[in-house]
Parts: sequence; structure tokens; C-alpha cells
Amino acid sequence: MGRLLAWRLPPQQFDVTLYEAREFSLPRGACWTAAGMIAPLSELVHSCREIYELGARSLALWRDWVNTIETHTGQSVCFRNAGSLLVAHRQDKSELLQFRRELQGKLNGEVSAYVQELDAEQLRQVEPTLEHFEQGLYLRNEGDIDNRRLLPLLLREISRQGVHLIEQSPVECEPFAVNSDRGREEFDCVIDCRGLGAGERVKGLRGVRGEVMVVETSEVALHRPVRLLHPRYQLYAVPREEGRTVIGATEIESEDMSPISVRSTMELSSALYSLHPAFAEARIVETRVNCRPATMDNMPYLHSESGLVCVNGLYRHGYLLAPALVEQVERRIEQQINGEKV
Ligand SMILES: Cc1cc2nc3c(=O)[nH]c(=O)nc-3n(C[C@H](O)[C@H](O)[C@H](O)COP(=O)(O)OP(=O)(O)OC[C@H]3O[C@@H](n4cnc5c(N)ncnc54)[C@H](O)[C@@H]3O)c2cc1C
Repeated sequence: MGRLLAWRLPPQQFDVTLYEAREFSLPRGACWTAAGMIAPLSELVHSCREIYELGARSLALWRDWVNTIETHTGQSVCFRNAGSLLVAHRQDKSELLQFRRELQGKLNGEVSAYVQELDAEQLRQVEPTLEHFEQGLYLRNEGDIDNRRLLPLLLREISRQGVHLIEQSPVECEPFAVNSDRGREEFDCVIDCRGLGAGERVKGLRGVRGEVMVVETSEVALHRPVRLLHPRYQLYAVPREEGRTVIGATEIESEDMSPISVRSTMELSSALYSLHPAFAEARIVETRVNCRPATMDNMPYLHSESGLVCVNGLYRHGYLLAPALVEQVERRIEQQINGEKV
């Protein structure tokens, strides 16, 4: 949120300072750990229509914003809008049916406009590698972004725009001021987007642990995020450059940031192996653990008062929701500038 907001606030109008508790070049927030899926439909099953609407808006904004970032930097952020695919093993076919039913309920029956049912032949046309599956669901309007490319490019862009970057500086936020080891610094408006670092300021804020593994193989080539629906092990696999795939799904009610557990490693690996046996020889090149900043109802938190805007609780939806929330923060700031009631 911090980097996107700093990037979006026009330098001609705002003199922006971005504080980071750690180092900008080595992000430690959930943003660096995430898989980068922008999946409004897949997430609708676990959330509400509002998340879906915000996600659909974000996807439209990402298309536009990515274009601008890539034009300015001359580099790709590997954003894809190639949809995503849901598959299940033959014995778990009912999972696909259930998923479709739930979407149908939440989309008031409009589901066929968004979800295409694929038989084995159609599935092979979309993802030729997944030849072991007999059916799937294709969610056309979904995307993903390579966060490990995006975040450094955003940093470069905001630095070029003249944003003041202050790192290794944990701050406390209050209306019109931030406090840190540097003392008290005053601003016309403070945006508190510290994720879990906001602590008590956001009532009920909690961390939800997530673990991902990055595997590498030249044997399996996926073209979009794939989710395996299984009664016990949920898996997503997001293909990245150089034969790498980010896999994950764990969601544990804990703020424990210690390394990935043996159980999670085994469950993710065996689910991946069942997606394609050639993953057995893939190399595990990285494991990542972090905690998603979540509110008690898992909905995003946006609060404003004179001199302060707080945005938090992005939970498992940071990339899904960030652009739409940035738009809302921009509106709140406009209101403050125009002296409207906030
Ligand atoms: C395993 C995993 C997988 C995920 N996959 C996805 C996905 O596929 N799609 C998706 O949409 N979302 C995903 N997410 C969720 C997403 O990562 C988060 O929702 C998002 O990163 C939240 O953004 P944020 O900016 O609010 O917080 P963060 O990304 O945590 O950033 C907070 C920043 O504030 C800094 N900070 C904290 N305290 C202070 C302080 N006192 N002073 C100054 N700076 C401070 C931190 O150092 C950090 O840089 C995933 C999360 C995890 C953990």
C-alpha cells in the first residue's frame, strides 16, 4: 500500500515522505511473500460480494497502472491477465461442482458469464501440461503480478518522482504527525498503512500466517495460476519466470513468523506432485513465511479523520484490493484538501 500510494500521489501536488521500519531494498512485509494472484472470482467463494467488486475494479486498474510503470521504467512487471484454472482429481469432482454452485449463489446466477466449464480436451487446450485431469473450471477474468518485480520498480519510480524515502525508521502515526527516533515530524496528512505494524491503532488487527514454497523445474510449463481443489489440501501454483512456480495455500491463525513447518512442506509438496508427477523432481529453491494483516471480519479497514487516513486489513487480498483501495484513499485525501467532512 505504501509504495502504491506514494507512486499515485501526483508529485506536482504533494510532497510525499515514505517511512519504512526496515530496509526498502529488502522488504519484510507480507507484500514480498505473497504469490501475487489477482483473483476476484476464486476469492469470492471465501469472501463477500464487496471483495469481488473491489477486486474486479483493481484488476482493471492494474492493467492501466502496469502499462504506465512499464512505459516509464522500460521493464516488465510480468502482469498476466490470462485467467486462472481450477482442477480436481476424478474422485474430488464434486469440489468443482460445489465451487461453481457457490459462485452461482454469490453472483446471483450470472456465473456462466465468468466461469467456463472445461472437459478434458478443452482443459488440454488451455493448459496442455495438465493431461491427467478430466475437467476443470476456467475463470477468465483473473490475473496475477510478479510482486518481486513490481516492488523494486515502484521504489525506483517513487524515488524518481522525488518522494523522500526514510528507512530503518519505525514510526507511530497520529493526525498531522509521525513520531520516530527522528522526533516528531508534522504533515498536512498522514497515511497509516503499516500492515501488522499498526498494532493497536486498528481494533482487532491480527496476523494470519501463510507459507509458500518456490519450486523450479523445466519439466512442467503452466501459463496461468492453477488451483487444485481437494477436500483437505488446497493448493495454488503460480508460474513465474525461469521455470519457477510459487506454491502455497496455508492459512494458520497465528502470528508466528518462524520458518515453514515439515507438515506444510509435505502437504504442499504432495498436492503439487498430484498436480503433475514431473514436479517430483522440481527443486525447492525458496520457502517464505509471513503473516497477513487481517481484521476480525477479514474485511479491509479504511478510516479517515482530519489529518489522518488509515488503510489496513488487506488480509489475503493485498494485490487483489490495493488499487481499488488506493483510489478510495485518494478520494479521502481530496476531501480533506477541499475541507469536506471526512
Ligand atoms: C503467504 C502469503 C501469500 C499471499 N498471497 C497473496 C496473493 O496471491 N494475492 C493477494 O492479493 N494477496 C496475497 N497475500 C496478501 C498480501 O501480501 C497482503 O494483503 C499485503 O501485503 C498487505 O499489504 P500492506 O501494505 O497492508 O502490508 P505489508 O505488505 O505487510 O507492508 C507493511 C509495510 O509497513 C512497514 N511497517 C510496519 N510497521 C511500520 C512502522 N511502525 N513504521 C514504518 N513502517 C512500518 C513494513 O516493514 C512493511 O514494509 C499473501 C500474503 C501471504 C503472507
